[in-house]
Amino acid sequence: RPALSRPERTRVFVVANQKGGVGKTTSTVNIAAALAQLGQRVLVVDLDPQGNASTALGVEHRRGVPSTYDALVDGVPLEEVASPSPEVDGLWVVPATIDLAGAEIELVSVVARESRLRKAVHGHPLVGGTDAGEERFDYVLIDCPPSLGLLTLNALVAGDEMLIPIQAEYYALEGLGQLLETVEMVKAHLNQQLDVSTILVTMYDARTRLAAGVAEEVREHFGERVLKTSIPRSVRVSEAPSYGQTVMTYDPGSPGALSYLEAAREIAIQGAAS
Ligand code: ADP
Ligand code: MG
Repeated sequence: RPALSRPERTRVFVVANQKGGVGKTTSTVNIAAALAQLGQRVLVVDLDPQGNASTALGVEHRRGVPSTYDALVDGVPLEEVASPSPEVDGLWVVPATIDLAGAEIELVSVVARESRLRKAVHGHPLVGGTDAGEERFDYVLIDCPPSLGLLTLNALVAGDEMLIPIQAEYYALEGLGQLLETVEMVKAHLNQQLDVSTILVTMYDARTRLAAGVAEEVREHFGERVLKTSIPRSVRVSEAPSYGQTVMTYDPGSPGALSYLEAAREIAIQGAAS
């Protein structure tokens, strides 16, 4: 297959769904690694105090390491808190430490509290158009915590596009109304260009009628925005983080890794077309 061309400017994706355990972090790290394997330059911003994305990408996130917290609360430039992931060349991570749990409250009294992350991301010299040079990031992926608080709000204000992972389970669409209302509010007041461009069905179990039903319901609701590729439920995907790896390097030939590669390709092609 031909190599992927790079987008004209950095595409900033917010990976959000206030429901926990739907595959936000897993999708963020694996799509990021897949895009990097496809030759794109990628920055992951871990915005969840749990730091699961940092763990999966093999980047230290104990208290004291430069992190998202420093960028958000103290205004430290993002390039000073990002480190390269050992996963694959061209992949960088801003880790989250547990300090970030306090940011939700600390930010309340800060000036322009909902646009701190936007300022940090857009202030990165490698984020932007051709003016940002050859080394510029093609993708920034922001992994959100499972809530609609100030951290997620910061991500929605910082992003151009949203990637919503939906678990193929009972009640899959529950809570999405609230998420989409928040998106509308952000579009009306804070970030007009935010676009819910991408829906990814995760933990799909092809053997069950339930999963097929959920996927169909999601497609009825979101149409073309749903990626053709669903991510199968697979033990290899869930094992990878305990080795500080994504499934893309832990078991590249596994169905989970191949699906994430295909999903990443769809995302890249979708961006080239628009
Ligand atoms: P979130 O970030 O939305 O809370 P995670 O990405 O952490 O969700 O996923 C929740 C749990 O489900 C984790 O234990 C993860 O390893 C597991 N998981 C995610 N995707 C898959 C998959 N495709 N197959 C099997 N387990 C998965
Ligand atoms: Mg998570």
